[in-house]
Amino acid sequence: MSFADLGLSDELLKTVTDAGYTEPTPIQASAIPSVLMMRDIIGIAQTGTGKTAAFVLPMIDILAHGRSRARMPRSLILEPTRELAAQVAENFEKYGAGQKLSMALLIGGVSMGDQIKALEKGVDVLIATPGRLMDLFQRGNILLTGCSMLVIDEADRMLDMGFIPDIEEICTKLPKQRQTLLFSATMPPPIKKLADKFLENPKTIEVARPASTNINIAQFVVPVAPQSFEKRKRLRQLLGQEEVRNAIIFCNRKTTVRELNKSLKQHGFRSGEIHGDMEQPQRLAELELFKRGDINILVASDVAARGLDIKGVSHVFNFDAPWHPDDYVHRIGRTGRGGATGTAYTFVAPDDAENLQNIEKLTGQKIDRLELPAPAEEERPARRTRRDRAPRTAEVEVEVNTAPVAETVEEAPRARPARARREEPRREQPRHDEAREQRSDDRRRDRRRSHQDETPDDGGWNGPIPDFLKVSFGI
Ligand code: AMP
Repeated sequence: MSFADLGLSDELLKTVTDAGYTEPTPIQASAIPSVLMMRDIIGIAQTGTGKTAAFVLPMIDILAHGRSRARMPRSLILEPTRELAAQVAENFEKYGAGQKLSMALLIGGVSMGDQIKALEKGVDVLIATPGRLMDLFQRGNILLTGCSMLVIDEADRMLDMGFIPDIEEICTKLPKQRQTLLFSATMPPPIKKLADKFLENPKTIEVARPASTNINIAQFVVPVAPQSFEKRKRLRQLLGQEEVRNAIIFCNRKTTVRELNKSLKQHGFRSGEIHGDMEQPQRLAELELFKRGDINILVASDVAARGLDIKGVSHVFNFDAPWHPDDYVHRIGRTGRGGATGTAYTFVAPDDAENLQNIEKLTGQKIDRLELPAPAEEERPARRTRRDRAPRTAEVEVEVNTAPVAETVEEAPRARPARARREEPRREQPRHDEAREQRSDDRRRDRRRSHQDETPDDGGWNGPIPDFLKVSFGI
């Protein structure tokens, strides 16, 4: 099937050709004609499948006719995070260049004043995170009664982040006669319920998970000791491989992101970090450095980096095995994009056995175990004192070892050319029930924390707005 068969306008056909797309992806081929026919859609698809263009392209054609009115956006796209909202805005800029459509982006961390001004002028497309949208709605800056098109993107992530009540409320503010498109990587019961309540006779389209079918990503499990200094050693060893041009390294906690970035910098790596505690301008600045190649390592938390579309990422490292198997799919999907090849390494400590099992169950494939030589012994700094030799915890010890002075003596050995072997199933060590319970309590608590990783709409920022966050185009 070609783009010309989908019913898009000639301008858009030219745009997609200019973008270098030769044929529609499966989600685009199924969704675009139905969206143009004004049907409601449930799209079960991940990022990386081309789903953004699947709704942005037909929306541009649908909205080409008609006029916007002050404070009454004609369409609304809800995104769970600022980064995804900004990315969708970039897509509108890219595909909508030369079209007379106006757009506003409502995300936390950016001055409300500019956003209100944009709304006052009237917008065709409003892209928002639920929290900031509700804020402005409650202040009376937005009327949603003229909004005839609604896109709920990444619905399952919205659920993880506790946005479903907000979304339900937003849905009730829109006119009943409207078109609704809902995209989600998975369909847990609350999302199904949301769809049943707010979509009219939707067409359901499901496309394959990109990671489970993306043969361009070589995936390896790296067995590691649980201590973080051991994991960091292993990581430095792997980062020392020649083929690692750049990498995104995922951690389960924000504190690990910060500590790991600090340690990598101390070891002379050009690294940066991105997580939910950072202000929006800071996050965008780090992303920009990574995109430009000024840094080649980005240490990231799940929520901050989810769905990011950065071309040419050669490696993904899961410094911590993800708790949710879905996150694995999302994380490794940051590499091997657009037909390129990529490599994903997942560090697995003995306690992560269950997480790994879940990942392999979800992706339907057994991931090769990587056999590596032990990393070279790190020499202790010569100036250790008696105090240093006193009993200490592993974490304190590592701070000594990662001090810049140790740099000159540590040599990261090259990992052998990825020689993988299948490992016999690991025999479970008998565990004390109480300890196990405690661990699972900890894990539950950590999971809750990880979902609170992002508070998209906290804090205001009144500094300059980066170019792609400028509020309108066209007109
Ligand atoms: P998404 O799933 O929307 O995050 O898109 C993932 C990537 O696929 C983006 O970099 C798009 O530019 C790219 N893309 C979207 N549609 C196509 C297509 N038909 N052919 C090739 N690449 C595409």
